[in-house]
Amino acid sequence: MKKTYETLMTSDVVKKALEIMKADEPRTWEQHQELVLIPAFSRHEEKRAKRFAEMLRAEGCEVTVDEVNNVYTVIKGTGDGPTVYMTAHIDTVFPMDTPLAIRQEGSRYYCPGIGDDTAQLAQILTLVRVIRDSGVRFKGDLIIGGNVGEEGLGDLYGVRHFFSKKENADRVDGFITFDGSSNGIVTGGTGSYRYRVDFRGPGGHSYGDFGMPNPIFAMGRAIALFSQMKAPVDQKTTFSVGVVEGGTSVNSIAHDCSMLVDMRSESKANLDAEDACFKQIVKQAVEEENARWLADKELYSDRYSKPGFVPLSERKVEAEIVQLGNRPVGEIQPEDSPIVAASVAAFRAVGVEPNMRGCSSTDANIPISMGIPAVGMGGGGKGGGAHSAGEWFDPTDISARLSKNFVLLCGLLGVEGLTDPLLPVREK
Ligand SMILES: [Zn+2]
Repeated sequence: MKKTYETLMTSDVVKKALEIMKADEPRTWEQHQELVLIPAFSRHEEKRAKRFAEMLRAEGCEVTVDEVNNVYTVIKGTGDGPTVYMTAHIDTVFPMDTPLAIRQEGSRYYCPGIGDDTAQLAQILTLVRVIRDSGVRFKGDLIIGGNVGEEGLGDLYGVRHFFSKKENADRVDGFITFDGSSNGIVTGGTGSYRYRVDFRGPGGHSYGDFGMPNPIFAMGRAIALFSQMKAPVDQKTTFSVGVVEGGTSVNSIAHDCSMLVDMRSESKANLDAEDACFKQIVKQAVEEENARWLADKELYSDRYSKPGFVPLSERKVEAEIVQLGNRPVGEIQPEDSPIVAASVAAFRAVGVEPNMRGCSSTDANIPISMGIPAVGMGGGGKGGGAHSAGEWFDPTDISARLSKNFVLLCGLLGVEGLTDPLLPVREK
């Protein structure tokens, strides 16, 4: 593996490619600034996807825009190597009405979404130009582009859609999610389940209808039980209630209320166990709330019962669990697996020490959960403040860090006349 990268780094074609990359920096940065000003909240990526596709076509590529607005091109190799799919996500966490303007402070540029993941989306275009203009010929095929739906409630729908097609799932031997600006390598996928739980009841007056089951009490019971769950510690597993809302006024028994729940784990077994426990808790909380008023029916509501009147205590609270997110767990891949080892070696070949990040929640969850080797890594430049209004990017010397991504593609796919692919073709 070391030998492969030594051969690549001392070859004329790779040297030339890295010079082209360096000279391309102003163009990379210019396209980056154009793309970041096009809003692209998850599930609303159409406009940015369209512009990105135009930019890719302008480089002479034949471009596919699929049913959900994933955009990609295929760079054919000589035919005796694996197929790698490398993609940056088009979407951001910022709602469509978020004001977008670039503000400079020294070498830093601030704008929502400027790092995650618009920087890498623009650098995909750079890589396409570098491959084209350097004349490097890969042995394997490269599918390269941008995908939708990575963030939050996008729930990885872009990459999920891509791999839901059998021809894609069969074809791809390795996947790179090109995300962020850190020097990290993600080798596993933290899985998550996300839910909204709606608690509903008949509702009424807090004084006049006292004795009636209360959706907010039921939700409170559920939260209390949920907060006492024991999380396994062997592989990190977490749970949280992130948002609660509901009710109308201080002197009402609410008709409804709801909570948003997030559970994550590096282990599918742990996540599924936690999920089962959560569902049991919601059921138990509702039963306890309904039973609590029935038990006291003589004391409260039923004193007022008239013939034909459903006693207040027998009016029921119910809960409905709505799944909002399902990111499959991608169990961590060993450091000696070809895609992970080739990634580490590519970083070192350009003098960057990788930070092994283990599990994270990224587009790589989908292929890893399907048994397709995959890693996540960032690109060139430096950035911070992702997902916040203070998000920034420093475009100084983009090619210094971006070079590893190009060199990795060379390593994985193999280069005609130079090296064999480091990534094996999967048995299908
Ligand atoms: Zn991202």
